[in-house]
Amino acid sequence: MPNTYHEVLDPTTGTLVEKVAATTVAEVGTAVALAARAQEGWAAAAPADRARLLRRFAAVVDEHLEELALLEVREAGHLIGNARWEAGNVRDLLDFAAGGVERLSGRQIPVAGGLDITFLEPLGVVGVIAPWNFPMPIAAWATAPALAAGNAVLLKPAETTPLTALRLAGLAREAGLPEHLFQVLPGAGEVTGDALVEHPGVAKIVFTGSTRVGKRIMAKCADRLKRVTLELGGKSPNIVFADSDLEAAAAATPMSFLDNSGQDCCARTRILVQRPVYDRFLELLAPAIESVVVGDPADESTQMGPLISRTQLERVRSYVPEGLPGIRGSAPDGPGFWFPPTVLTDIAPDAPAAREEVFGPVAAVLPFDDEADAIRLANATEYGLSGSVWTRDLGRAIRVSRAVQAGNLSVNSHSSVRYWAPFGGYKQSGLGRELGPDALAAFTETKNVFFSTEV
Ligand code: NAD
Repeated sequence: MPNTYHEVLDPTTGTLVEKVAATTVAEVGTAVALAARAQEGWAAAAPADRARLLRRFAAVVDEHLEELALLEVREAGHLIGNARWEAGNVRDLLDFAAGGVERLSGRQIPVAGGLDITFLEPLGVVGVIAPWNFPMPIAAWATAPALAAGNAVLLKPAETTPLTALRLAGLAREAGLPEHLFQVLPGAGEVTGDALVEHPGVAKIVFTGSTRVGKRIMAKCADRLKRVTLELGGKSPNIVFADSDLEAAAAATPMSFLDNSGQDCCARTRILVQRPVYDRFLELLAPAIESVVVGDPADESTQMGPLISRTQLERVRSYVPEGLPGIRGSAPDGPGFWFPPTVLTDIAPDAPAAREEVFGPVAAVLPFDDEADAIRLANATEYGLSGSVWTRDLGRAIRVSRAVQAGNLSVNSHSSVRYWAPFGGYKQSGLGRELGPDALAAFTETKNVFFSTEV
């Protein structure tokens, strides 16, 4: 079957950036075979050499930081400052993973009559399927530790954002990584992505994307008992107690759900505010939302850029019918995919915008009565990825952050992802963890070997 092409559009203007050839199912088969061969040599190389090559890869990424960042602004509409951070995050992830190569040790288990040792063996070829919202960091979250643990990686970027991934594969070769060890296979999810999931030569799939697609991938992986890590959707709470520093909580709220135009799996899109301070909080929040600067992502003073595509714009619009009460910021008219910052007030807790992942600059604000009510509301969702707790009461901060069923919580801040701390979701937000001290172990099988001393 001949290749089809994907059009990569600039979300700021809606104009064509590049046409990228999609990988056919047959080409996926060839890529798997080549990757498997490359992986054998990679796994057999001295750990110090693998670590050195990954550090060199990090250094080459660092030399191309600005180029990668500008590419991300063009294909994903990210703010230039964010895009620079994202390229730097890839460099840091590679450096962090490189530090793990020589520390990936097994254990010695006490036994009678011999010696018992565990080995952490690489899986082989790992398939990474990435979304469009953070194309570079999310690709690197899996790719860096998988390579460090001795695997080959086949990365399928999202249809709308393949350019930085392709450039990273080029930089890997420039850094001296073996040919075919890290390949980027652009293409449609249902074709190229599915071929990776189905291929018996792919030992593990790391999927980041929607819960709907994640479930289908998990079901297919189950057929082969293929290893799978899933990083899925979210509808995270931002819980503001009456005893918090209300000014600080209100000031931090806009970017907790507007960063990356709300296209963030950790976006705090359910703002839960304790009833006695509800009105005051909205008074403080309104000017903060209305003054968010929405516009050209290449301009350093811009705070929020466009949405990724027309499809995403229509999807976000469908959650905010005309006339819903709320606080609204402004957005440019004209070409590009623009939606204003929006906080919906007076919305029922079970309304779609309060319950479903909008994946745009839209949050719902809901009142609560006491700590138990806050926890109940926070957990009244199928998701469990992230969340924040604002309070000055240390005991409450501990109780509530322990009670909220989510993988990544922050107290008096909205931070969530640090590559040296574990990241992942409860409930329908995912399965398994990425990043953190155990990142490499997720790309290994534990093998136990007993050596008899009796013979
Ligand atoms: P998506 O599920 O539509 O697509 C994600 C990737 O899967 C793309 O590369 C797509 O081509 C591929 N794909 C689609 N159908 C497939 C199939 N049948 N088989 C194999 N691959 C297939 O998601 P999206 O719209 O690109 O991304 C947005 C979603 O990602 C949101 O739900 C967001 O919350 C989630 N996300 C989660 C995290 C996390 O870490 N938990 C991080 C970022 C984004």
